[in-house]
Amino acid sequence: MKHISLSLRDPGGDGKLHLKTGPEEDGETLMFVGHYSAALAAKAVEPRAPLWTYVAAAQLVDIGWSALVIAGVEKVRIDPSLPGSDLDLYFMPYTHSLPGALLWALAAALLARWLLKLPVAAAAMVGLTVFSHWFLDFLVHRPDLPLWFGGPKVGLAWWNHPLPEMALEIGLVAVAGAAWAWRRGAAGRTGWPALTFVAILVAVAVIGSMGGAGGGDAVSMGVTALTTYLVLTVIAWLVDRGPKQRLA
Ligand SMILES: [Zn+2]
Repeated sequence: MKHISLSLRDPGGDGKLHLKTGPEEDGETLMFVGHYSAALAAKAVEPRAPLWTYVAAAQLVDIGWSALVIAGVEKVRIDPSLPGSDLDLYFMPYTHSLPGALLWALAAALLARWLLKLPVAAAAMVGLTVFSHWFLDFLVHRPDLPLWFGGPKVGLAWWNHPLPEMALEIGLVAVAGAAWAWRRGAAGRTGWPALTFVAILVAVAVIGSMGGAGGGDAVSMGVTALTTYLVLTVIAWLVDRGPKQRLA
């Protein structure tokens, strides 16, 4: 397999980017759609927040990560020798440390309460959904998640086993989607929005596993990720749009 070396925008000066040019042999995977299982589960448990808030919340830490990677504050490089995901996420304390994730979760809960005027329980559920991101990342990331700022890094590295990892992600999404569909059914409503959103997520997972994580340099990787998160948030808004009193 051929590799092209590119210099990465990297004020620290210690990053080299290797762009994969050969065919993908193994699927790219990065606990991506799996995060949305938390959004669907939250929606099933506390339906008074619109789906898009949970969907944005489930990826808020990665939305922040994309923005900080584009800004050159947090760092990623591609190491094609790594199994599963080839992302080497060697510096991301502000978004993916345990206290960092906790702060994002608190901020999101406060914003949901004061800006979106959600009920307290729904705003708390938005915060919990944000915090869930760290624990799902903990399962799949290689040890790149700092326990505290500058502290030891943890991660169970299921990334190294792409197929079971992808099965886990899609399984979680399917179970959580079924829970939301059941909740809607119990309220006398159709399960189609849940089915539709799950189908879109599975399609995105399949496309992602074929096409890789965007490739290229860190900035274009951040832009691709940010765009995907925002598009899925808009889709979530479209999927469960409806009169407020009928949200379920
Ligand atoms: Zn993440």
